[in-house]
Amino acid sequence: MGADMVRVRFAPSPTGFPHIGNLRTALFNWLFARHHGGVFILRIEDTDVARKVEGAEEAILSSLRWMGLDWDEGPYFQSERLPLYQEAARGLLESGHAYHCFCSTERLNEMRREQIRRKMPPGYDRLCRSLSPAHWEERLAQGITPVVRFRIPLEGQTRFNDLVKGQVTFNHSTLDDFVLLKADGFPTYHLANIVDDHDMRITHVLRADEWLASTPRHLLLYQAFGYEPPQFVHLPMILADDRSKLSKRHGAVSVTEFEEQGFLPQAMTNFMALLGWSMDDHTEMFTLKELVRYFSVERLARTGAIFNREKLEWMNGVYLRKFTVEEFVGMALPYLGRDLPPSVSRPLDRDYLLQMAPFIQERARTLGEVAGLADFFFLAEVDYETGPLLKGMEKDARKQGKAAAEATPMAVQALDKAMEAIQQAAEFEPEPLEHGFRALGEELGLSAGAFFGLLRVALTGRTASPPLFNTISILGRGRCLTRLKAARKKLS
Ligand code: GLU
Repeated sequence: MGADMVRVRFAPSPTGFPHIGNLRTALFNWLFARHHGGVFILRIEDTDVARKVEGAEEAILSSLRWMGLDWDEGPYFQSERLPLYQEAARGLLESGHAYHCFCSTERLNEMRREQIRRKMPPGYDRLCRSLSPAHWEERLAQGITPVVRFRIPLEGQTRFNDLVKGQVTFNHSTLDDFVLLKADGFPTYHLANIVDDHDMRITHVLRADEWLASTPRHLLLYQAFGYEPPQFVHLPMILADDRSKLSKRHGAVSVTEFEEQGFLPQAMTNFMALLGWSMDDHTEMFTLKELVRYFSVERLARTGAIFNREKLEWMNGVYLRKFTVEEFVGMALPYLGRDLPPSVSRPLDRDYLLQMAPFIQERARTLGEVAGLADFFFLAEVDYETGPLLKGMEKDARKQGKAAAEATPMAVQALDKAMEAIQQAAEFEPEPLEHGFRALGEELGLSAGAFFGLLRVALTGRTASPPLFNTISILGRGRCLTRLKAARKKLS
């Protein structure tokens, strides 16, 4: 190992809450490090003071922890390393690779407006590039604080081999003399990024596609410093279903929101790994451990990856069903506590929950859906329209050659009989209940669809629910009677 040891970093800027794209970058770096037995470093690139967002740093760290992506070094904070970048900028000034620029903001704005007006590419017009160091002294003595700009070679090209994109070439004529050090002594992203990647002995830079255009600048900086550059790996873009760039309007994109909506970290890492990487053409389910084993840069895609929320929901459901009922209840409880209406008294009855949980676990795709699937078990009364309540009954009435209006008295009679049956049932278990109710339905001359449909809506307030007789058994005698009575009242 030694010098060949893989060292990668995740280098987020705390300018916003970490979104899927950020964490996919973190995941790929982490997988690459773990696969090669290397080192995963966390570095917070917080030199853009103006764009810093309160709480973003904490959100980054907690999202990484939540997903199980542990780091070996850091977090380093660039804001605590300013002398290092200032020293580096001084070195470049001395070697002639950088120069002081004294242009005022007004002048630069005016220049920019002119460029737009004349439809010219943006970029500094290099006014200060030819000032001599003697001139610098003069200006500095006047108390004008300059920025430091990089002196891009006027001719030639920079070529490099990106491990995903392949050969990439940029003409120097397209690059402008970008700022390295701002007037307030803070470095720009470019300078701090290169100084740190060198200082931290980074071997591979896996980062978002959007940074590809910065790479020639970075390589020129490496050259100017006399540093060996790392390998570059620009990750495929993440696109929405409509192939536009994924953004807020496509639903939750911040990872904290996915957690709040009841997605599991196991599902998130599995799903995110497949955004631009695949092991083969068909395997979809991977534990984090398996991802570590199989991850390789060679299998990264060159084209954009589509973010398919339905697939994520499906996958999350698959993970939810892998847990025991007890585990599922443990995970669902905080969500239920949060999502059930305030009228439901807390703490929730865990034993009661355990009874219904298998039926909910079967259906839920996220923990955030659990309350919606289970609320009728907890509510004091259920709410519904008479339409769905009578739907099957009306069909039966028609079949029997009666008017649709006959459905109501038929339903009232069925409800009365059902209440009797509930009261008299010796065993309140699904199987004997089913026997009893089937026989009762026949006795009343009703189809199973009509009778059970009526009971289902009366008991749950909905037309789709867990199996009816399990539901009756779980609800228990008291709740069932109250709800059937309420249905009868609704009808008369
Ligand atoms: N701070 C940059 C970001 O937020 C890092 C880009 C890079 O990895 O070089 O994406």
